[in-house]
Order: sequence, then structure tokens, then C-alpha cells
Amino acid sequence: MPTQKYQKGDKVMGRWPGSSLYYEVKVLGFDAKSRLYTVIYKDGTELELKEQDVMSLTGFQTRSRSRSRSPGRRRSRSRSPARSTRRSSSRTASTAITEIAPSSRRDSRFKDTLEVRLSPMATENNITDKLEKGEENNSASKQNEKSEAKVEKDPEKNQGRYNLRRRKDDGAVIPTEANSGLQEEEKTNVFAATTIPSAPLDFGGKMGAYFWLLFLPSWVLFVLLQVSQDDPSLANFPPTLPPLETFWDAQALGFVLLWILFQALLYIVPVGKLSEGMQLRSGKRLKYRTNGFFAIVVSAIVVAAAVHQGVDLTYIHNNFLQLATASLLISVLLSIYLYIRSCCAGPDQLALGGNSGSVVYDFFKGRELNPRIRDFDLKFFCEMRPGLIGWCLINFSMALAEMKQQDLDAPSYSMILVNLFQLLYVVDGLWNEEAILTTMDLMHDGFGFMLAFGDLVWVPFIYTLQAYYLVGHPNPLSLPLLTVIILLKLTGFYIFRKSNSEKNAFRRNPSDPKLSYLKTIPTATGKSLLVSGWWGMVRHPNYLGDLIMALAWSLPCGFSHLLPWHYMIYFIILLLHRDLRDTCECRKKYGSAWEEYCRTVRYRIIPRVY
Ligand code: NDP
Repeated sequence: MPTQKYQKGDKVMGRWPGSSLYYEVKVLGFDAKSRLYTVIYKDGTELELKEQDVMSLTGFQTRSRSRSRSPGRRRSRSRSPARSTRRSSSRTASTAITEIAPSSRRDSRFKDTLEVRLSPMATENNITDKLEKGEENNSASKQNEKSEAKVEKDPEKNQGRYNLRRRKDDGAVIPTEANSGLQEEEKTNVFAATTIPSAPLDFGGKMGAYFWLLFLPSWVLFVLLQVSQDDPSLANFPPTLPPLETFWDAQALGFVLLWILFQALLYIVPVGKLSEGMQLRSGKRLKYRTNGFFAIVVSAIVVAAAVHQGVDLTYIHNNFLQLATASLLISVLLSIYLYIRSCCAGPDQLALGGNSGSVVYDFFKGRELNPRIRDFDLKFFCEMRPGLIGWCLINFSMALAEMKQQDLDAPSYSMILVNLFQLLYVVDGLWNEEAILTTMDLMHDGFGFMLAFGDLVWVPFIYTLQAYYLVGHPNPLSLPLLTVIILLKLTGFYIFRKSNSEKNAFRRNPSDPKLSYLKTIPTATGKSLLVSGWWGMVRHPNYLGDLIMALAWSLPCGFSHLLPWHYMIYFIILLLHRDLRDTCECRKKYGSAWEEYCRTVRYRIIPRVY
């Protein structure tokens, strides 16, 4: 039996099935029985290739040179000005894609087909490789994946259909010489493909989007009504509905708007660092003013001055429902604005996950990745400022309300713990504001109702539930319990901060000498995965830390009611779902490297449990 010619890790040229095109690939394995090589392309696509479809780099170059003298090849090139642009950009980017003998028009069509088709595995973050190829194709296309299967079976039939070529950074797909002779129907398909294909739908798809759009606002209002009851137990479900006008107060809307404008003002003050975001599909990096810590300090000073001047902050407690309704209205209007403006955004500005074509789903999930008004980044601002700093302001007002309502000289221990714990969480987030630039929300999710509502309504009005609860439901703490809760919080915080910082530092500078002790797994995208340190313990150590902290936030409220545990329960569901979404994304992005990571680091969030 002949021996295996290429070994695991060897770089070779692999023929794309059904075509005459060769790409540089890495050998992942060889099955001696079927004589098939498993190879990985630069964009992460893995395929099994027949032995005769794999050749060495040197052998390929010799053969390619001799073929390039073919007159047929020259003729084919000279007819296509677009092709010459493409070729030169490919060369400068040292692309692996090379034709052996595309002497016919049919072959040149097929080349373009593959240029489009090879990208579906890539995602927003998987850009290094795409830049190398000079192709800014957006990806994760089910449509393309389906066509892939067809092409392999019957390449000729499918050549016209996806015969596309990207010309510029704008990501627009333009017809080329090769498709100029297509039938009308085929042309339609060409142009239909100018929209970015969307990733698989989350959150129950289109029907799910309807559900969440109705459910989330109703749930917030319901929970707020429930917690304001004397006995918010489940036995008293549902709470009595107050008259409709109770929900609305123009003054409350004015205060919320004032707060958002105040935070916007602090955001644009040219104080603090200008941090670079992760590289976008277009190859660009956006700049963000990361002055969140400055913003919370100034906000605290202004609030303290206002209280000193006699402003009664218990207004927030007394008008909580109205403030929540006002914020809800603002988040809906903002989402409508975001959806409308996303219709004018270029394809490379859209998030892969919010471009399904269903208005309701895309409105919910968010279409545009980084909507900006000049340099004002709407998503970053909403994620980090009004809601997050507002959360601390509300907690503080609840402490004042507790003192007033229970006639105390100082807030209770439980209230102090909840306030301090959550303040630490927010201040830490703002101090390390740059770290949010490597999170899923910033990198992958479009800005739509889901995030706008989450940032402006859910965070300030649901995350403050424990403090709200304690105003009317005191829960004295013994000293040992107090100590245990503090230790728990510190442990969670330590895990959360260290793991997030480790990944953030690694993503920002993988060759940082301070991180050289960490083991990594290389991936086909050029990025590596950490496989030791915190990220070698479980696959989401930051979620573990966050969950431990969540436990420490609920414990001061005791076990009399379920409501103060709302955050804990919701957060478990959120992080489990987030972990699933992220795993799915990473599997697509990193292919076998991700599988290897999962084999090495077996547990997702809790060591030896889950
Ligand atoms: P992560 O910060 O964990 O980001 C996930 C990304 O990290 C992956 O997509 C991947 O991106 C990268 N990654 C995964 N594994 C590795 C590895 N082994 N080595 C290197 N990079 C890896 O997730 P989130 O954005 O969901 O969460 C960020 C923080 O925010 C967490 O602490 C979370 O608990 C917290 N959070 C809090 C919420 C709250 O309401 N309190 C809500 C949501 C999150 P890539 O490879 O592309 O860089």
C-alpha cells in the first residue's frame, strides 16, 4: 500500500471539489483506508480531499507556471478589467487562491463562485484571514452553504447562480464579465445576494421576536407592580392593576431624558482614553472614548451636590413605575430610529445576526453593528452609561427611601451590601471600560430593541430589584452571614475580573510577554484560543465569577420571597443561553481548533459540574 505523502500540519495546495481551483490548505489528517486527506482552508472550512487533489506547494508552483503560458488563459484575463483589479489585490495580499488552467469562460465564472462561497464560515471577527484574501465577503450564509452542496454535485449547473465578485471595501457585489452573459433569472439572483446573509436565528426566530417584544416590557411592568406590594409572594399573583394613568408621568419622562442627555454630555467630553475597538469586517477599527469612570465620578458629585441642596431622591422610588414606562418609551423610539437608519447602512456595517429579512426579528435583534452619529457610538454609550450609572443612582435612592420609610438613621446592612456590591460591579465595569470592546454585545450583536431595551430599561429597573425590595421588606443579617456574603462576593469578583482581564489582554496583544506562560491553540483564522490559565479551567470562567457575585447580591434579601432572586434566576438562564450562542459562533469561527479546545477544557462554566 502506498504511504501517506503529506503529514499533519503540512501546508499543501488542495483542489476545491468539482473545480480546477487550488487553495493553500493545511493537512489535518489522513485516512489510509479511503485515502482521503482532511484539510482546512484559510477561512476555516474543513474538507476531505482525494489524494490526487492534493499537491505540494513546490509541485504546484511549477505546474502553475507552465500552465500560465497558455494563450487561453491570457485571453480570458484580458477580457475582464474587474479581474485585473482583483488579481492585483489578491497578489498584494498573498492570497492562496490560484487557478491552474481557467482557460475557459466557464472556469473563470467558477472561480468567482468559489470566492464568494468560501467565506460562509467566517464571521465578523474572523477578518484577519479575509483581509489576507482581499475578500470582504460577508458570510455564514445558509443559502451559500446549500449551494455549496449543490456545486459539489453539479458544478456546472450552479456556476451562474452565485457568480459574484466583490470589488471594493463597501462590500457591494457587482456583476462581472463572467456573469454578464447570464439569463435574467440568474442576474436577479446575483443582485439578490447583495444583502448580507444572516446567521441562524436566535431567540426562537421570527415568532420568538414577536413574543419577546411583547413579553419583556410587560414582564418589567409586572415585576415592578409585584415588588411594590406589601406581600410580593407568588400567592398574591397577579398584582392588582392600577389605573392606566398611573404608568405615565410627563415629568418622569423629562427626568429620564435629562439624565440621558447629561450622560451623553459626559461621554463627549474629551477626557480619558480613546480606545480602539476590535477589527471590523471592513478591516477598520473604531475609536471609543472610554471615560466611563470619569462619568460616574462626575455623576456622583452632581448627585451628592443635588442632595445637599435638598433634592429629594426618594422621588425615584415613589415614581419608579412612571420612570420605567418613560424609559421603555425611549427605548422603543430609539429602536425604531435604529431600524430606520440601518436601512441606509452598507452591508459591511450590518451585524450578521440581525439581517434575516424579517422586519420584526431584525428590529428586535438589531441590524446595524455600530450605529454612530459622527463619533458618538450609540450602542457603546447605551451599554455603558445611562443605564449602568443609573442603576447606582437608583440603588442610592432606594437606600434613602429605606431610611425614610423605616425611619432609620442609616441604611440597613443588607441595603449597604447590595449598594456596595453593585456599585463595585459598575465602577469596575467603567474602570475597565475598554474590556467591553471584546465582548459579544460589542463585537457581534447589532443594536436594536434587544440591547436598547436591555440597556435603558432592564438594567436600571430590574437589576435594582433587590434594593427596591429591601425598602419595604427589611432583612436583618447576622455577622457570620454578613461575612460569608462578603467573602462570596469577593471570590466571585476576583474570578470575574481576572478572567475577563486575561482574555482582554490576550486579545489585544497576543504576544504580550506577561502572558507568555499561557498555553494556546492556534486557529485557522490567525487568532489563538487560550487553553490554560483561567480559560483552561472552564470555557467561561467570567460567567462563573459573575454568577457567584449574583448569588452574593440576592443573599442579603433572605429567602422570604422569590422576587429578590429574580436576577439570579434570570442571569443563570441568560448566561446558559449566551454560552450556547457563543459556542455556536466559536465552532463556526474556529472549526476543529474549537473542538480541540472543548476536548481539552471539558466544562463550560462550573468545573466538574457543567
Ligand atoms: P466573553 O467575554 O466570554 O466573550 C466570548 C468571546 O471570547 C468568544 O466569542 C471568543 O471571541 C472569546 N473566547 C472564547 N474562548 C476563548 C479562549 N479560550 N481564548 C480566547 N478567547 C476566547 O462573553 P460575553 O461577552 O458574553 O461576556 C463578557 C462579560 O460580561 C462576562 O463576564 C459576562 O459574565 C458579563 N455579562 C454580564 C451581563 C450582565 O447583565 N450582568 C450580561 C452579559 C454578560 P473571539 O475569539 O472572537 O475573541
